[in-house]
Amino acid sequence: MPVATAAADDGRVMAAPGDIVDVVVNAGQPARHAFSYSVPLGMTLQPGQAVFVPFGAKVLQGIVLGPAGETPESGLRDIAAIADERVLLDPAHVALARWMSATYLAPLWECVSTCLPAGFGQRPVTMVTPVDVPPLLPVDRTDQRILAYLAEHGRTALDVLREAAGTVTIARLSRLQEQGMLTVAQGLARPRGHERFERRIALAGGPAEARAAVERLRAANPRSIEARLLEALADAGEITLTGARELGVTPRHVARLVAEALVEERAVQVDRDPIAGRSFASRGTPVLSPEQAAAANVVGARDGTTLLHGVTGSGKTEVYITLVQETLEAGRGAIILVPEISLTPQAIRRYGERFGTTIAVIHSGLSDGELYDTWFRVHEGRARVVLGSRSALFAPVNDLGLIVIDEEHEPSYKQSDPQPRYHARAAAEELARMTGARVVLGSATPDITTFHRAERGEIGYAVLEQRLAPAPGGGFTEAVLPQVQIVDMREELKAGNRHVFSRALVRAAGAALRSGEQVLLFVNRRGSARFILCRDCGNVAECPSCGTPMSLQADDGELPRTVCHNCGRTRRLDATCPRCGSTRYRPFGAGTQRIEMEARRAFPHARVARWDSQTAARKGAHDALVRGLEERSIDVVVGTQVLAKGLDLAGLTVVGVVDADVGLNLPMYSAPERTFQLVSQVIGRAGRRDRQGIAIIQTYSPEAPALQAAATGDYRAFFEHELPHRRRAGYPPFARLARLTFHHPDEEHGLEEASRVGTELRARRDAAGRAEPEVLGPSPAYIRRLRGEYRWQLLLRGHAPARL
Ligand code: ADP
Ligand code: ZN
Ligand code: ZN
Repeated sequence: MPVATAAADDGRVMAAPGDIVDVVVNAGQPARHAFSYSVPLGMTLQPGQAVFVPFGAKVLQGIVLGPAGETPESGLRDIAAIADERVLLDPAHVALARWMSATYLAPLWECVSTCLPAGFGQRPVTMVTPVDVPPLLPVDRTDQRILAYLAEHGRTALDVLREAAGTVTIARLSRLQEQGMLTVAQGLARPRGHERFERRIALAGGPAEARAAVERLRAANPRSIEARLLEALADAGEITLTGARELGVTPRHVARLVAEALVEERAVQVDRDPIAGRSFASRGTPVLSPEQAAAANVVGARDGTTLLHGVTGSGKTEVYITLVQETLEAGRGAIILVPEISLTPQAIRRYGERFGTTIAVIHSGLSDGELYDTWFRVHEGRARVVLGSRSALFAPVNDLGLIVIDEEHEPSYKQSDPQPRYHARAAAEELARMTGARVVLGSATPDITTFHRAERGEIGYAVLEQRLAPAPGGGFTEAVLPQVQIVDMREELKAGNRHVFSRALVRAAGAALRSGEQVLLFVNRRGSARFILCRDCGNVAECPSCGTPMSLQADDGELPRTVCHNCGRTRRLDATCPRCGSTRYRPFGAGTQRIEMEARRAFPHARVARWDSQTAARKGAHDALVRGLEERSIDVVVGTQVLAKGLDLAGLTVVGVVDADVGLNLPMYSAPERTFQLVSQVIGRAGRRDRQGIAIIQTYSPEAPALQAAATGDYRAFFEHELPHRRRAGYPPFARLARLTFHHPDEEHGLEEASRVGTELRARRDAAGRAEPEVLGPSPAYIRRLRGEYRWQLLLRGHAPARL
């Protein structure tokens, strides 16, 4: 079989008639492989082009990946048609999609689709079409309803017809088709993503000709609408239909002028750009501090990945900007990823001021139209710098030279739903390998695994230890880190303080508020698991078999039970603390609403605002809140982890971590790490300018290493404490975890299925004579019930769990 040989101008392989190519098909099946097709006579193709292919009885969309990998069997079908002349995917993205599919066991189409413009996928639909001559009305009621609907609405998609006419079976439609009453055909739904065109009216000739016509029309009718339109056009050249309507112009007027060849109608493609119309004050490249310059050099001197480890406020962003600048000067493009929630207008402004309109912004809050147009702006090289959240990694930047992942430790870089379930950091490194780009992972509190890699020399390491602030006259000045105090809440109880705020916090916050400064109260709320805490001795109920904090089981029967989310073990909740016998041994954790209420009570003169996932759900809420804080119309903000990032407020001097224990006692191995990161981030918000910040951490376990290290800002101390634990317990970076989640409306059924799969996996592992991966569970998922379904999980732990 001839395999593609000719090369296109850019060195890309072309496929010609007779060649066999691999096509990934949007078939709605979880296939992890492509399908082979032959290229018909008269067609030449390039890998990365969109095509239509026959698939079973349907014609579906697909993307050509390249020459067929294996010598395929005979009887191959031809590609039906080319869907788009443009080459949508370059070889690097084709390879990235294949890598994701293999690594994350995800359907190949879904992986390819993440690299395509938004809303590109077309669903197959069944279309029902009426016949021209209306048939005699049938006797059957349902038949009548179907035909009546079709007669009125014309060609209709089957699901629409079903909504209108009740149960419409394929068998019924086939019968009606045989009787010559309608036709049924397969088609593809219109893609959600497409260009938008705007109708405009323009002069057909020159302005002089138009003005002459204005005179003529006015002579006949001084209030001529046509004259008014021509006059506007003589000034502006062209005008939108909406603009014309505002002048009182109707389609009749336009038609008359078109007939006289004075104007013409045009459809102009509009670029839907979320930052269009934003003008940025342009700023030059920053003058870096010696430490920043050294860090930038470390990154520049090394291929591959470098960790940029810089304390909060050390000016990592300025280093990124310098690196992007260098990348652009070398003629290459860049991608900057930030956690979704830190993609605030301030962040966009910081990059916009340096790179102007060559930046493209991509995040999940944009419309399909905006995403679609932005994708093509990047694809065509009109934008060279992409700034966005997780999914921006897949933007088709030409000649990619740099990928920055800011706050690389953030969990939001992991996509857990929908497919493909990937980690943007791993995918970025893979993409960089294929494009020769550099990767910079920036964080004040790197992921344990990332830091471990840097320690072993697998990736580069650059460090920023000095906190900076912009100097009033330009440039930078050194800034101080906040003073941190850990408050033992058991002592508060003993002293008779039963409030959620310690005396130290009330004192510090009160003083700040009196001098017109702002206070942030951080409440850690994630999911619904509530752990059991003794208020007198700080004891936490732990799983006897694996040491994970036990959670209160949601269905509270007569005797409350606790459950381990790690291994699934359940236990009756003790009535008193097994360690000290106290009766104050109960579930712990208050919601943000409750803390907000307490804050209003404690600081009656302060203007208090709440920021959590509930208040954040409203569009524009984040911006409004940040504005309120900047303009000082908010004195106290009570919020969850969404507040921990990105805020750079001059007036914020006191940060209180209200319930540090909640994070520490989450039922997952990464709980201490996550708590260390969150607490470090959130206390880093205090005193970012000239004033000394104060941070107060309230806890029942003041000796916890995660809190101690966060308080002293000692990353290494935390790392050195945590790593041996991970090694002993067999958690990352010493093993990999894979979680299988089972969800079903019936709780028992989900559990049975999870148990069955668990047993099967263990049996297969044993049959292969392997000791790993370990199969843990089934246990209730951390979020036990979601969208009306119960969720159970199995955890696989080992060096390559995906293999099993
Ligand atoms: P990080 O991203 O590490 O938390 P930022 O990049 O936000 O830190 O920097 C902290 C503050 O210091 C910001 O207000 C930033 O504008 C300022 N800054 C950092 N480096 C410089 C510099 N070289 N020149 C002027 N201002 C700087
Ligand atoms: Zn106790
Ligand atoms: Zn357990």
